[in-house]
Amino acid sequence: METASMRWVKEIKIDLDTCKGCKNCFNACFVDVIRWNAEAKKPVVAYSEDCVWCLACEAACPVQAIEVVPIIPAPLRVSF
Ligand code: SF4
Ligand code: SF4
Repeated sequence: METASMRWVKEIKIDLDTCKGCKNCFNACFVDVIRWNAEAKKPVVAYSEDCVWCLACEAACPVQAIEVVPIIPAPLRVSF
């Protein structure tokens, strides 16, 4: 039986070398999956299990440094 917390995402990849530290992804994530490392001025994936695969962080990144990898099977993805 499915629990209340459904997992959508397998992995959230952030290329910290490409990242420009603009903080857009942190501001875009409304469920606090992405936290901010103020010292390094880089994002940190803190609670990937809470990610709802909205892709707001990916869309907000000006340098395409983020890739949110969903769990759902490939045939379903091509229908979007
Ligand atoms: S896909 Fe949405 S919920 Fe997941 S980390 Fe990005 S902004 Fe947050
Ligand atoms: S939106 Fe992209 S460039 Fe900006 S902090 Fe996040 S990963 Fe880095």
